[in-house]
Parts: sequence; structure tokens; C-alpha cells
Amino acid sequence: MKTIGLLGGMSWESTAVYYETLNWMVRARLGGLHSARCLLFSFDFADVEAAQASGDWDRARDLMVAAARNLERGGADCLVICTNTMHKVAGDVQAAVAIPLIHIAHATAKAVAGSPSKAPLLLATRYTMEQDFYTGYLSGYHGLDVIVPPQDDREIVHRIIYEELCRGVILPASKQACLEIAGRAIAAGADGVIFGCTEIGLLISAADFSVPSFDTTTLHAEAALDFALGGLTAS
Ligand code: GLU
Repeated sequence: MKTIGLLGGMSWESTAVYYETLNWMVRARLGGLHSARCLLFSFDFADVEAAQASGDWDRARDLMVAAARNLERGGADCLVICTNTMHKVAGDVQAAVAIPLIHIAHATAKAVAGSPSKAPLLLATRYTMEQDFYTGYLSGYHGLDVIVPPQDDREIVHRIIYEELCRGVILPASKQACLEIAGRAIAAGADGVIFGCTEIGLLISAADFSVPSFDTTTLHAEAALDFALGGLTAS
């Protein structure tokens, strides 16, 4: 089994889900006492968020690149940036190391392309919904047509992510707000829902929707594990 290098702590609430998911998946695939070989670099999220909020993406990039190099030096065989938003600098991170970066939008695009959904709604941070680095990746992949909510709804989702989910606060009213946002988009033609923030799955789940949903945390963890296990199966 190869070693998965996790760039986490963005927030730790979702990195904990990555860690658990990877280990559950290894147990399901290999059985026995097998568990995921991982190295984790966990940021102080306040540092990363401050760089994001001030638009200092160079600083955010430098933080990611330095930690990625540490993971590579420590023996990681691949890199997983445990957040959709920080994939804004994924190209710079990949260029700084020799090990492969498992891209979250690639894992997501593959899952959407393999489903009946042609126009999924993206629920994510404002950065991920409004900048090109993520939606551009998805639309460049077999021409997937990603729908983003209108501005007022984007503000609501962004606020819920940073003021609640990244602080471990899960509120029924916020779940209701997200479901209403998704409901309006589905009524207007969206035929799937991308949980495009690694904390969104803490609030809503596939069972809340009659259209396919795509939880990027799970899809990303699965892609990392496919790399780490290669052809390994239970023995
Ligand atoms: N984890 C979130 C994401 O997937 C948001 C926190 C962050 O800015 O990294 O985008």
C-alpha cells in the first residue's frame, strides 16, 4: 500500500471525515487489521482563512507548497488537498513536488460524467463557486455544465461553511436553507447536486435529494485510495 499525504486542517472537521473514510474504505477492501497508510499535515485553518479572505492567494499557495514538500520529504507517495477551495493553487502545488496530486475536481468530474446528471448544482465556498479554477475544470471535462446558485444564495452557503461547519456547528435551520437553495435550482433545471465543499456532507446527505448527489470528500478519498492500493485486494 502506498502512503497518502494529506494536506488537511481546512477545516479539521472535514479532515477527520477524510481520515475515517480512508480507513473504513481500506477495511472494506482489504479486511482484517488493514488500515490506511497516511501522513497528515494539518494547518492552523485561521492562517489559511486569513490569506483567502484578504485575497492573498500567493501566501495561501506558499503555505500549501511548503507543507506539500514536507509531506513528500516525509515519504508520501501522493498528495491530497483536503479542500475544494485550496485547489485554486493545485497547479502550483503539483509543480513543486515530484509525487502526483490527486485532484478533487477530477474525481468529482469522473463521478458526474458516469452518472445521468448533465447539469449539477455546485454548493461550495464563494471562491469555488465564483472563480474559474473549479467550475472551469468541470466544464472542461466532457463539457459538464455546472450550475451555481444566484448571489444571495452563494452568500448564504459561504457563510454557513465558514461561520458554522468549519467551527463544528451543525444547525437544522442551515440544513433547511441549503435544501431550499438546492430545491430552487432543481426546479430551474439542475439535475444533480455537487457537495463542493468538504464540510457540506456534515450538513446534508444523498438521502435529502431525489437527484444524484456527489460528495467531493468521499469521491476524493476514494480516488486517493485507488491510487494507494493499486491492484491490492483482500488476501
Ligand atoms: N473545506 C472547504 C472546501 O472544501 C472550505 C474551507 C477552505 O477554504 O478550505 O472548500
